Amino acid sequence: MEDLSKTMQQLMNQRHLNDNYRQLMAKVYDDPTVTAFYQEHRDELAEDVLTRSAAKLYEFVSEREKLAKGGTSFATGYEPQLIVSNHLIDVAYMPTKETQEKQAQQQLRQRVKSIAMPKSIREANLKNFDQDPDRAEALMAALDFVDAYEASPKRRHQALYLAGSFGVGKTYLLAAVANQLAADGFSTTLVHFPSFAVEMKNAIAQNGVAEKLDALKKSPVLMIDDIGADAMSAWVRDDVLGVILEYRMQEELPTFFSSNFSMEQLEKEHLRISTRGDDEPLKAQRLMQRIRFLAREITMIGANRRPQ
Ligand code: ADP
Ligand code: MG
Repeated sequence: MEDLSKTMQQLMNQRHLNDNYRQLMAKVYDDPTVTAFYQEHRDELAEDVLTRSAAKLYEFVSEREKLAKGGTSFATGYEPQLIVSNHLIDVAYMPTKETQEKQAQQQLRQRVKSIAMPKSIREANLKNFDQDPDRAEALMAALDFVDAYEASPKRRHQALYLAGSFGVGKTYLLAAVANQLAADGFSTTLVHFPSFAVEMKNAIAQNGVAEKLDALKKSPVLMIDDIGADAMSAWVRDDVLGVILEYRMQEELPTFFSSNFSMEQLEKEHLRISTRGDDEPLKAQRLMQRIRFLAREITMIGANRRPQ
């Protein structure tokens, strides 16, 4: 880089710099990244950029060298990069490729909020969902939902009510849909409903009910897992579940369900009877109307896939 060395020479002569500094800076001005950057941005740079940005250029070369030797730069996970700032050269610290990947993974995870769900739901993937004919309808419906929702997330989309016996893969399929939506930039909340109901009861004492309720009411996509697995008190049925579903129906927000019961069984055997033993067919019917509005029933059959 003849130009650069000549300018450098002049600079050094002018400044009567000591040998140490000279050696240090000669290496900097000889650096291929530095010279390429200087050439590429010459038009935007001040004439005396090489003197005025000397410290920054030195910082760039030495920090990069530290990293190459396996050391850490002063900001872990970031690497130095030259940028033009105000006609001078500056150093910006950009996330390394690994850091970027880690950040993307974290963002993805944050898009799936889970309440009392097993950690293993992270691994669920639509691509790994087996092509078992017994479960094909559920898989197709799930894929259709993802396509339709992603094409127009603001419209109303009826979600799924997955009914089927223990271990057939209902939770897995819900989680796989949530993970797919996350990968494409959409947020979902997955909640194990029986555990959530207990949490809500405990939240009464701490005045936390409204906040917990709000998170579920307003989640862009909500998945209520295992509804009907535990007996519900009238309060949970009407003031928790009822309130969440009413809001989501009004706002047309997609809401999935999974249950060991069919819709009919859920209404007749579960929602009608409160834990106190009262039979309340009208309340059960109203709730069921909301569930039917939000989701369509799909029965999953097959063997129990849980490790025995
Ligand atoms: P359910 O919610 O219907 O009771 P799960 O979704 O918990 O059933 O599935 C039972 C077990 O089988 C879980 O360990 C789950 O990870 C696994 N599983 C279910 N479906 C699949 C699948 N398609 N591919 C791989 N593992 C699956
Ligand atoms: Mg389940």
